[in-house]
Amino acid sequence: FNRKMKELHIKLNEIQKSAVLKTEGPLLLLACPGSGKTTTMIMRIGYLIEEKNVNPKRIKAITFSRAAANDMTERFKRFFPHLELVDFSTIHSLAFSITRTYLNKTGTEFELIEGGGKGKQSPNKSMLLKALYKEVIREEGTEEELSSLSTFISFLKNRMIPFNKWEKVPGPFEKAGSIALKYEQYKTRTIGHLLLDFDDMLTIAEQALRVDERLTERYRSQFDYILTDESQDTSLVQHRIVEHLVAHHGNLCVVADDDQSIYTWRGADPTYLLDFRKVYPDAELLMMEQNYRSSKEIVDTAAKFIKRNKHRYKKEMHTENKENGPLFIKQFEDPKQLLEYVTYELLDEKNLNEVAILFRNNSSSTMYVNELHRRGIPFYMKDADDKFFSHWIVEDILNFMRLSFNVERKDIFAKVAMKMNLFISRKMLSEFERKASSGNVFDALRQSVQLKGSQIEKLAAYKGVYDKIPSMRPAQVIRMIRYELEYEEALRSRAQKFGYRIDNLLGILDTLEGIASQLRTMVEFANRLKELEAAVQQAKFNPPNNALTLSTFHSAKGLEFRRVFMIDLVKGIIPSEEDETDPLLMEEARRLFYVGMTRAKDRLELLSFQKQNGKTKEDSRFVNEVRGLLMKPEERKMGKLKKVQPSIPLDPDGIHDSNELYKDMHVIHRVFGRGIVVEIGEAEIRLQFGENEKRLSLETVLSRRLLKKVES
Ligand code: ATP
Ligand code: MG
Repeated sequence: FNRKMKELHIKLNEIQKSAVLKTEGPLLLLACPGSGKTTTMIMRIGYLIEEKNVNPKRIKAITFSRAAANDMTERFKRFFPHLELVDFSTIHSLAFSITRTYLNKTGTEFELIEGGGKGKQSPNKSMLLKALYKEVIREEGTEEELSSLSTFISFLKNRMIPFNKWEKVPGPFEKAGSIALKYEQYKTRTIGHLLLDFDDMLTIAEQALRVDERLTERYRSQFDYILTDESQDTSLVQHRIVEHLVAHHGNLCVVADDDQSIYTWRGADPTYLLDFRKVYPDAELLMMEQNYRSSKEIVDTAAKFIKRNKHRYKKEMHTENKENGPLFIKQFEDPKQLLEYVTYELLDEKNLNEVAILFRNNSSSTMYVNELHRRGIPFYMKDADDKFFSHWIVEDILNFMRLSFNVERKDIFAKVAMKMNLFISRKMLSEFERKASSGNVFDALRQSVQLKGSQIEKLAAYKGVYDKIPSMRPAQVIRMIRYELEYEEALRSRAQKFGYRIDNLLGILDTLEGIASQLRTMVEFANRLKELEAAVQQAKFNPPNNALTLSTFHSAKGLEFRRVFMIDLVKGIIPSEEDETDPLLMEEARRLFYVGMTRAKDRLELLSFQKQNGKTKEDSRFVNEVRGLLMKPEERKMGKLKKVQPSIPLDPDGIHDSNELYKDMHVIHRVFGRGIVVEIGEAEIRLQFGENEKRLSLETVLSRRLLKKVES
């Protein structure tokens, strides 16, 4: 096997070797990021098959997510192309198989209410929760409340908290526990027919393994060796399932890093690892602290950074890798500039699959999707945010626009009137819809229902705006909707009333405006949204080769990239306002940041911005800490903050004087590629790119040196 390792150009270190060789009995491998946990696990499997002649079918490797399972399969194939594949799967798929067998045996029908396609007849989890929320609280739940309710229910089940305690566990809001109980009752109310969500598969599988000896025997006898990766994010119920399966032989290898535990909010239980010997008294414990992934600067900084957490198993991450692999901190004026910087930097990258853009919230991604797609930069999204395009704000904006093409359509008007600050009641609107009237809705409304003076005034003003809209560019239209039609003001009151985060809502409007700013008509805008939605689907399910990765910090766990951009690192995002309220949440936020940092091999950039929506933003405290760690001791003493103000490098050959431009000139545009100058105006320049003509601001083109002369 040693020779084999040499062929693979991997020289396992002593601890890795012992982890590979100690095949029998329980083993806990607790190790730092990039120390070769996953690698060692794969080598161990190879060793079991090649040296110990274990049948691959009798090995079960459990990973955290389906993406991780795919990643592991790829690595295994790369190392051992000649071997039969081992089954790498998630605990959920294993649990589902156990649950299905068990329920079939007991003659219980079941139906999944999570993860299925849309528009099916059967109830789905989120709709059910929404209805139950309304029943109990007597109000509509906000999106945020409903999603935290759903997470809370996951938490209760993953931590195996018995039903009779559910109402006592502190939830995201009062009565969350009661709604959770009602939800359970609803799912089991038809005897012999169960409705199941993802977590139920775990709960039922665990229960089945506890009570049904024959079934347990059957599953036990299938696997002689079980290995679990990323076990810091395994929940109690998941640990129990594994315990049942290895009870007779104890051949269990658990691989984990408590510093990378980032799912406690969903019920993961990293303390289990610290008590590992309570469950498996004869377990061996190995620690791996040498990082093979990242440059010395990144490793040393990250190691110091994570030590500020109190609740952790002490480890000293170090590396023998070289120093040169820089860590940069950059602050931009606003998110747009940050976006420009990142996309500009990407133009120089040849191997995009070695590069990742990471963010805490999926909402950060849409602007990047637009820009990457526009520039033809291939990208891959692991947990794509397809919700953006169906968000009610997007729908609102499109409806506002639709009305401008159909100012006689009462039905469209009824949709947007509720979103304006007109204070017209639903009742009045339906009265209006029923009345036989025609013509411009703004006039028709005034004639058909009784309005107050202030409403009449507003109506007249809005009508004036609508007269102008059709000839405007989409970005201008969105601004008109925001400010002249007072949509933004209406959003603010809605946010307050329903407890939405206004920053999130305004962020959606900004993103829409950003997308619109590159387009000429509202029709183009509507089509562009469709196009982007399709691009996201493609990036998720059918990504091109050599694609850049766009991912949340959470989903980047376990992966590595040569270069990593961590974006939007401002206070309020990471740590979030909620993180600031609880030291344990703050520690988890720090671990999340640490997971992001330790993905980079030799270039890590921490990027933030100073302003958004006119509001000043502060750098994330984590960014400030890293900045402090990077400073030399003498700088630290003087308290000098090293602020790197980046400027987007200008192309020295780029044209910056309008006198150099002439009609029919052949140019290359930094973003759009080859084109021909059609006309040079006072403020605008028209260019032909292939079949498309574009009008660009002359000022921007020159000051940013976007054009270069090329031979025809
Ligand atoms: P994470 O905590 O992020 O999941 P990990 O501990 O699973 O990290 P791996 O992904 O297995 O780490 O390994 C990190 C990198 O180090 C990989 O590129 C791997 O090939 C390399 N590596 C691991 N062990 C060795 C070794 N003994 N010699 C050289 N390179 C190694
Ligand atoms: Mg790993």
